[in-house]
Amino acid sequence: MNQVLLYCRPGFEKECAGEIQTKATDVEIYGFPRTKSNSGYVIFECYQPGDAEKLVKKLPFSSLIFARQMVLVAGQVTDMPVGDRISPLLAALAEYSGEFPRCGDIRVEMPDTNDGKELSKFCRKFTVPLRQALRKQGYLFTKDNAKKPVLHVFFTAPGECYVGYSSSDNNSDFFMGIPRLKFPADAPSRSTLKLEEAFHVFIPREEWDERLASGMWAVDLGACPGGWTYQLVQRSMFVHAIDNGQMADSLMETGQVKHHEVDGFKFEPPRKNVTWLVCDMVEKPARVAHLMGQWLVKGWAKETIFNLKLPMKGRYDEVLQDLENLKVFLIKNGLKFNLQAKHLYHDREEITVHIQVLNPVTPH
Ligand code: SAM
Repeated sequence: MNQVLLYCRPGFEKECAGEIQTKATDVEIYGFPRTKSNSGYVIFECYQPGDAEKLVKKLPFSSLIFARQMVLVAGQVTDMPVGDRISPLLAALAEYSGEFPRCGDIRVEMPDTNDGKELSKFCRKFTVPLRQALRKQGYLFTKDNAKKPVLHVFFTAPGECYVGYSSSDNNSDFFMGIPRLKFPADAPSRSTLKLEEAFHVFIPREEWDERLASGMWAVDLGACPGGWTYQLVQRSMFVHAIDNGQMADSLMETGQVKHHEVDGFKFEPPRKNVTWLVCDMVEKPARVAHLMGQWLVKGWAKETIFNLKLPMKGRYDEVLQDLENLKVFLIKNGLKFNLQAKHLYHDREEITVHIQVLNPVTPH
């Protein structure tokens, strides 16, 4: 096996390819990406046989910004006959029977494109007989097991797919790498789903009660009309909402929100009891990243989720530079932290960054 398949948002293949190329080189694995514009995926082909396995083991999935999923490819199957699409898939797997692990789950997926949408009904139906056949041949355990690898069949066209697997401890938990979230009817804006998705992606569910606890104070910079504040209020937090615009009345009526009509770059929390800082201001990404760094270094917040709006050109380089500057700034100031950045499903021309400070500073 010498290919790794990465799913991404259509239109971001170049960023996804640039990122895997750089990060593979960092771990001394060499190869080249194959991309097709707006296809919603990238294939990274390693020069050395066996290197793809090494790559998916060495590279933490959480370190990838633009990839929604990372799959080790066993083979590509083309010209699948309409009457029997299962046999060629089994034949492709048989070639790697010694190396292919028994999996705990199967996902029959497609790119997140308009063409992909047309395949979704077929993929759903196909999953049932394929699961049975794979169980019979021993490629799948007889019962679903979330701790075992996941078998992926990724259809790129009717009768054409990649087959491979991902490790349950180094992949996205979600079908197609996309958490399915329902828009809450009473939320003031669709952006609310960005922050909810960020919670799902960055914070383990079992830690929500502690890290997103009721009664905490949060600051929301660029809050209007209140989609992000809504998420915090839903979790029974108190929020300083900073924006010159209009906040949704429904949020103000909860009594949990203080609206400050001031510049987010000048606001200082009145009491230093803030746990969460979130920021969705439409501003230069370098400026936002620096502001977030200042808040953490001053001890004004312990954890932050913020968006970096991407420029038209050089999107990957801008992200790399801004994150690198921010890390250097935090390290220079003695902070220990976890930082993760992701191009979320609900992000368009932006990425979302999460930082958790591990050695909180006394506010000053
Ligand atoms: N997160 C919000 C939601 O879910 O409803 C949407 C935020 S919207 C994308 C960006 C907001 O940032 C706008 O309401 C704008 O007024 C605000 N903004 C931009 N620059 C700002 C600044 N310097 N200070 C405060 N707010 C700012």
